[in-house]
Amino acid sequence: MIQVSLLGATGSIGESTLDVLARNADRYQLFAVSGYRRLDQLFNICCQFQPSYAVVPQESAASFRQRLADQGLATEVLEGEEGLATIASHEAVQVVVAAIVGAAGLLPTLAAVEAGKRILLANKEALVVAGALFMDAVRKHQATLLPVDSEHNAIFQCLPDHFGKQPLADQGIEKLLLTASGGPFRGWSLSDLAGVTPAQAVAHPNWSMGQKISVDSATLMNKGLELIEACWLFNLQPASIEVVVHPQSIIHSLVSYRDGSVLAQLGNPDMRTPIAHALAWPERIDAGVAPLDLMTAGALHFEQPDEQAFPCLNLARQAFISGGTAAATLNAANEVAVEAFLQKRLAFNQIPELIEEVLQLTNIQPANNLDILLSEDRHARDVAGRCLTRFSKP
Ligand code: NAD
Ligand code: MG
Repeated sequence: MIQVSLLGATGSIGESTLDVLARNADRYQLFAVSGYRRLDQLFNICCQFQPSYAVVPQESAASFRQRLADQGLATEVLEGEEGLATIASHEAVQVVVAAIVGAAGLLPTLAAVEAGKRILLANKEALVVAGALFMDAVRKHQATLLPVDSEHNAIFQCLPDHFGKQPLADQGIEKLLLTASGGPFRGWSLSDLAGVTPAQAVAHPNWSMGQKISVDSATLMNKGLELIEACWLFNLQPASIEVVVHPQSIIHSLVSYRDGSVLAQLGNPDMRTPIAHALAWPERIDAGVAPLDLMTAGALHFEQPDEQAFPCLNLARQAFISGGTAAATLNAANEVAVEAFLQKRLAFNQIPELIEEVLQLTNIQPANNLDILLSEDRHARDVAGRCLTRFSKP
């Protein structure tokens, strides 16, 4: 039995992962889970899967422990960041699913890397914040990093076998084509976007996801974060990665080769496919996803992203090019901006404005070590918080 630790079990990726695990219970055992809020849901997960460990925030640990004991469950409750690092690096575990949202996922995911685990990476922010350090640690500790983000998983599936061993250009690859659905506001102008509400922004046309990534999809920051994620995963510069809007979300991304071949991975938009792929790679297991019916899928469309109406994509591209701590700053400012937008303290179009202002007010430093990155993350959040008070409320 392969033992799995699931960081962020109560989220959207967490839920899809649990579904795949339950379908393949003869191969995989859920060893440990974590949850942050929605602890009723975590309790139900513990009842169903009976993991050895559950990690909750420190302040909830005592009551959660009591609840499990009352139910007669043997699941041991661990607390906070230390608990997350424990389940990510536990010697009994082979696979760690990194499905916490935001920079909060960085340290536990790095703990899994340093323990040399097979990591199923959904938490793209970890790579955005600390890409260089993260990839160095993957090599040093011989961890197996497998992308769960659907686009990166698609690219991974279209690459030659010796992924990571040789530069892509030496393997005849000219560029990657990263597909974007365009989100719920595709085709809207900057002025159309001025009054959009959180409810409109989180209503994604093709994917059901957590709130933060749904807002990121609506602003195209998600594609910006994914561009950075792809640069680190595949060791490329942004110039080799083209973003293509494809509203149907049937093609999940493409790889363009020197001889004119373009390979793509297609499928119904369901995160259980990339999760199952990364879980079983190089084998294949059932994901519970219906095969794509091309007749129902119909015509597939492609267009260029509108970088005027959606400036976040270019903000992310430029932050990667700037290097050092710039992407960590961008990520922190974006997390603050998205949270403020969801609380109706910031207008939709003010999200990129706030991020740009924070980038202007902070100095880029070399990202030599984790302490610098974590302190820049805190600093950028402080600066963003102060800027917020100057923005007029929507
Ligand atoms: P979500 O909001 O549904 O779930 C987030 C999980 O993280 C929850 O289990 C929550 O308890 C936990 N969490 C939140 N804050 C935390 C903190 N401070 N400390 C510890 N745990 C915390 O998010 P999601 O949509 O499942 O996305 C998770 C990650 O996967 C994100 O990085 C997202 O970008 C990425 N991703 C998601 C999808 C998708 O379809 N949902 C697709 C591709 C990539
Ligand atoms: Mg994606």
